[in-house]
Amino acid sequence: MRLVLLGPPGAGKGTQAARLVEKFSLLHLSTGDMLRAASAAGTPTGLAAKEIMDRGDLVPDAIVVKIIEDRIAEKDAVNGFVLDGFPRTVAQAESLDAMLKAKNQKLDAVIELEVDAEKLVDRIVKRAEEAKHAGVPVRKDDDPAVFSTRLAAYRAQTAPVSAYYRQTGLLKAVDGMESIDAVTHAIDAALQHRAHA
Ligand code: AMP
Repeated sequence: MRLVLLGPPGAGKGTQAARLVEKFSLLHLSTGDMLRAASAAGTPTGLAAKEIMDRGDLVPDAIVVKIIEDRIAEKDAVNGFVLDGFPRTVAQAESLDAMLKAKNQKLDAVIELEVDAEKLVDRIVKRAEEAKHAGVPVRKDDDPAVFSTRLAAYRAQTAPVSAYYRQTGLLKAVDGMESIDAVTHAIDAALQHRAHA
């Protein structure tokens, strides 16, 4: 199964992706995690991306598309994957279509987690506090000022990706304001519905 999880930063994509990965034995492909790993490793791509990520803007399409293209070409991706944080622009969505088409593959569903902006800020403040308590470094881009830039990038560049997938009939909207378990349940139901469609 090949899935995309869409939704604004803080919507719970990472949490739900982890559950889908476990349930369906999929690969979790988070471009944010991959970019943070590249940045921690000090690769040229990682260092260039870090500066952009720290201010809350989007990394150029060509960089993230190449990262995903290379990753899904690996053997362990044949059983399927959950894309978390990619695509974030319509151009990325088009590139994804082209790369899957070249492999005779396609997406099974695109799940969009719908959450209102006020709740997102609360969640991100909570995420930063939890990290602090756990002694884990707080993500620089979870700072409220940077977070508002990330939300603005989402509204301007990522929101049109929903319309792109709605047109193809792949989009399943799920209420992301519910509890984690309720959201998982709603995603399961959306995928079941797809299976019987
Ligand atoms: P995330 O962990 O998904 O919230 O991503 C953290 C940051 O990584 C984003 O704010 C962007 O700067 C960068 N990033 C992650 N995925 C993408 C993407 N698909 N396109 C552009 N930038 C991305």
